[in-house]
Amino acid sequence: MSEKNLKNAFQIALVTGASRGIGEETAIALARTGRFVYLNYRSQKDRAQTVLDQIIQSGGKGKLLPFDVTDKKAAEAAVQAILAEKGKIDILVNNAGIRDDMLMVRMKKENWQTVLDTNLTGFFNVTRLVVKNMLPKRFGRIVNISSTSGQTGQAGQVNYSASKAGLIGATRALAREVAKRNITVNAVAPGFIETEMMKDQPVEDIARTIPAGRLGKPQEVAAAVLFLCSDQAGYVTGQVLGVNGGLI
Ligand code: NDP
Repeated sequence: MSEKNLKNAFQIALVTGASRGIGEETAIALARTGRFVYLNYRSQKDRAQTVLDQIIQSGGKGKLLPFDVTDKKAAEAAVQAILAEKGKIDILVNNAGIRDDMLMVRMKKENWQTVLDTNLTGFFNVTRLVVKNMLPKRFGRIVNISSTSGQTGQAGQVNYSASKAGLIGATRALAREVAKRNITVNAVAPGFIETEMMKDQPVEDIARTIPAGRLGKPQEVAAAVLFLCSDQAGYVTGQVLGVNGGLI
């Protein structure tokens, strides 16, 4: 094991929505660099188990941790379970997210609420207790997966854009609250990334609108998250790192 990975081997990470897509690649990247990774998911146990198997086969360490991020009690119980097992959480990646696109005139309250509950309140439900534990330890890395849609607004995504813009505001505010304790809080704002979230989208048309001429890969988002979790990124906080092929 390299010197860097040896140090990371004492770090505990939690990645929400780690059963596929960006969360999957982030969990794999964190485990590959030595961290013990808790993989959260909501419903797809088989997919999450496949990710964990891959991590373990590559010599990494981790554990499944199913809960729904919209359920405050369940989220807090899961965080408590990690603290009981490991005594700390060094890295939290708030990645679980959904979209439910439609024009605002057709949007019902439930379409609004479910997206806000998952993408924004989910962040609150998981992060509050994690931060409380990080404060006395005087170390922490929190990365929130926002979106270009939260930076620019996107037609058909009033609910999603609001949730992802809210996450950026929360990132910047929390970063200021905890900076003195050596805890960094940053957001990564992916553009269009090749995951199941994009499966019903006109991918070729979208690619033409991106300066890089292609969609991004979940591994490219994971690489940005990995940097923000590193020791080298200790002076980077309250920032939004776009991974969008030059879209904005
Ligand atoms: P996917 O749809 O591929 O995966 C979503 C993940 O989130 C799954 O692991 C899913 O778990 C989990 N999840 C959803 N709802 C909940 C919940 N209530 N509680 C716990 N876990 C939940 O998404 P992506 O990988 O594409 O996206 C990951 C993040 O990146 C999201 O926040 C998304 O908004 C953001 N993003 C994605 C972009 C893209 O182009 N793909 C662009 C910009 C941002 P399960 O399957 O078990 O239910």
